[in-house]
Amino acid sequence: MTDAELGFMQSLWFATAEEAPETAALSGTIDADVMIVSAGFTCLSAALHLAEAGQAVVVVEAQEIGWGASGRNGGQVNPAFDVLLSGVQAHFGKQRGDRVLELIDGACDLVFELIERHTIKCAHRRVPYIGGAYGKRGLTEVERWAREWGDYGEPVILNAKQDTNSVLGNRFFDGSMEDAQGGSLHPLSYVRGLARVAMSAGVKFLQKARLAPFRRRGIIGK
Ligand SMILES: Cc1cc2nc3c(=O)[nH]c(=O)nc-3n(C[C@H](O)[C@H](O)[C@H](O)COP(=O)(O)OP(=O)(O)OC[C@H]3O[C@@H](n4cnc5c(N)ncnc54)[C@H](O)[C@@H]3O)c2cc1C
Repeated sequence: MTDAELGFMQSLWFATAEEAPETAALSGTIDADVMIVSAGFTCLSAALHLAEAGQAVVVVEAQEIGWGASGRNGGQVNPAFDVLLSGVQAHFGKQRGDRVLELIDGACDLVFELIERHTIKCAHRRVPYIGGAYGKRGLTEVERWAREWGDYGEPVILNAKQDTNSVLGNRFFDGSMEDAQGGSLHPLSYVRGLARVAMSAGVKFLQKARLAPFRRRGIIGK
């Protein structure tokens, strides 16, 4: 076993995760409308949605389902994490910015909807996200964050120092912002669950198959 494999398998998540789904070996020629490289959150959600839309999808993964950051992260489902609404608009402009904001706004709901709709077992909990503020600068930042996202319609509130400290159980922060859309889950169980659901929707998997590096050569078909 390699060091990388040991590193993955000697984790709390690996020791406590739901079983990985068994993927059948693929052989011969595989016809697909879409080939997706990697079996993490991002690609498995795309694979599932494409399959539900009637596309034939194959996922190619160099190692195993959840091998990357998706099977190793903190398991926090963070709403609009670290992003100021005005920053998104400034970066993307009005039209694309509005679309990005919609995506950010719906991201946590999408995760929990997928879990509920497909009964994915991943120890999920819907609890508020709390961002602590330290010092005057920190307070100004969370005030701006709460104002911008609050005006956008997010369920955000500001907490004074005392409330923050009683929720967080320490005396470190001078205040905080709280967004009710947050939550937590077991990331390796979630990614394995997503893979199981994608498989039932018809997605095929090829694991231990690293795609060779490729370079973009211009527009496909030209
Ligand atoms: C330490 C840490 C903590 C984090 N904590 C949080 C958190 O609490 N909450 C949160 O929302 N986000 C967190 N994140 C971020 C989050 O984990 C990532 O944004 C998310 O997992 C990215 O998913 P992904 O599907 O894009 O990529 P990944 O899950 O990284 O998947 C990429 C996959 O691609 C495969 N691959 C790579 N190259 C090839 C190839 N050539 N051929 C075939 N397959 C290939 C890899 O083997 C891997 O399985 C954290 C990240 C880290 C590193």
